[in-house]
Amino acid sequence: MDMDKIVSLCKRRGLIFQSSEIYGGINGFWDFGPLGVELKKKLKESWWRHIVQMRHDVVGLDTSIIAHPQTWVASGHLANFTDPMVDCKKCKGRFREDQIDTDRCPEKPSKSPRECGGELTAPRQFNLMFKTYVGAVQDDSAVAYLRPETCQSIFTQFKNVSITSRKKIPFGIAQIGKSFRNEITPRNFIFRSREFEQMELEFFVKASDSPTWHAYWIQNQLDWFCGIGVGKEKLRIRPHRADELAHYAKACSDIEYEFPFGWSELEGIADRSDFDLTQHTKVSGKDLSYFDDETKQKFTPAVVEVSVGVDRTLLTLLCDAYHEELAPTAEAGESESRVVMRFHPSIAPITVAFLPLAKKIGAPLALVEQEFRKSLNTDFDEVGSIGKRYRRHDEIGTPFCVTYDFQSEQDQKVTVRHRDSMQQERVALDQLKPYLQKQLGNL
Ligand code: ATP
Repeated sequence: MDMDKIVSLCKRRGLIFQSSEIYGGINGFWDFGPLGVELKKKLKESWWRHIVQMRHDVVGLDTSIIAHPQTWVASGHLANFTDPMVDCKKCKGRFREDQIDTDRCPEKPSKSPRECGGELTAPRQFNLMFKTYVGAVQDDSAVAYLRPETCQSIFTQFKNVSITSRKKIPFGIAQIGKSFRNEITPRNFIFRSREFEQMELEFFVKASDSPTWHAYWIQNQLDWFCGIGVGKEKLRIRPHRADELAHYAKACSDIEYEFPFGWSELEGIADRSDFDLTQHTKVSGKDLSYFDDETKQKFTPAVVEVSVGVDRTLLTLLCDAYHEELAPTAEAGESESRVVMRFHPSIAPITVAFLPLAKKIGAPLALVEQEFRKSLNTDFDEVGSIGKRYRRHDEIGTPFCVTYDFQSEQDQKVTVRHRDSMQQERVALDQLKPYLQKQLGNL
């Protein structure tokens, strides 16, 4: 499947636009349109419910994007959060050295930058953190960074959260929020951007229990992806080799998805040992250990990190939902191609669309839609031919369209059209709510 088709559908239907498009765009930044923002909200809500609200052993947090700069000294980001960068002396292209074999030469896209004949500079380390200044004076003492991951403030707030929430280990702290990385080569649409959102859980455990929890969270996340409609066969677990592991990590596995550009990391699940809390204790001089009331022991917990990008998950949902197929038309024996986004009903931007066959008979259906709007994402669409309206809702993945026609005025029944099968059923208006509730299950 072609990534350009997804990019074009996202623009055409108001899901995702290039940031600052009227000024020619800005590389690595994206804006989410009216339907994209709904999809994103539902995705984040689903994660939050699954990770925080449905569990007694995880609490939430929402911290500032700019933290004390010592945070990044302690975490190692200031010294080590770098990618090796090389330039081509001929075309002036800039590449990540560790990805150069899968990259393309801007002048000869059939070749990688190593094969195209241009001379490459020696690699140099480039720190990915965005720098800014806090306050009016722009000197070295005012330097701060936009966070490159959300989890560090979970560690620095560990003591406050564990005391106030009265949680006992094992327990986790979760956060959803923006992160920023000055990526050398932002690419593949929203897969790798410079501003993105992360959903991260830090699950604090006794060091001896970390392998069990690591395995638990990998399975838990696979189940969640499948629960929001991602095809099982397109997901796989890739344990990191020993030589890939960060020096503090005891283990790390990526959940990968088969994107149109190949298998790539969707989520990272790492056993980070007690590295982070120990580092912040050292650098801040504040004790971040945990006291176990039962055993009367004080120790620094290990942590299993569950870290996934909102935008990357959204791209996964878009790629997984996209289908092109031949569909029968109103003419007997004829068919035409249709694009349909088979989103899981729980995350589709619009759940039910209400479509009067003609404007002049729309009033009763508008009243019904108002009622449904209280609990579901709905749309009332009376413009254009019914065929065009169905096609629009197929392309934005609306699971159900409810049509009110001239017959409805007589028999108080509507037609419910199912997105995937395109089957149509007549349903009495006063039975529509239980009917849809049954179809949607317990969303
Ligand atoms: P990569 O190797 O792809 O650069 P990473 O291993 O550095 O990623 P992590 O630091 O583990 O990524 O980040 C956790 C998650 O955050 C990733 O699995 C991904 O879903 C998301 N993520 C990281 N960087 C980006 C980015 N630049 N754009 C969008 N999402 C990102």
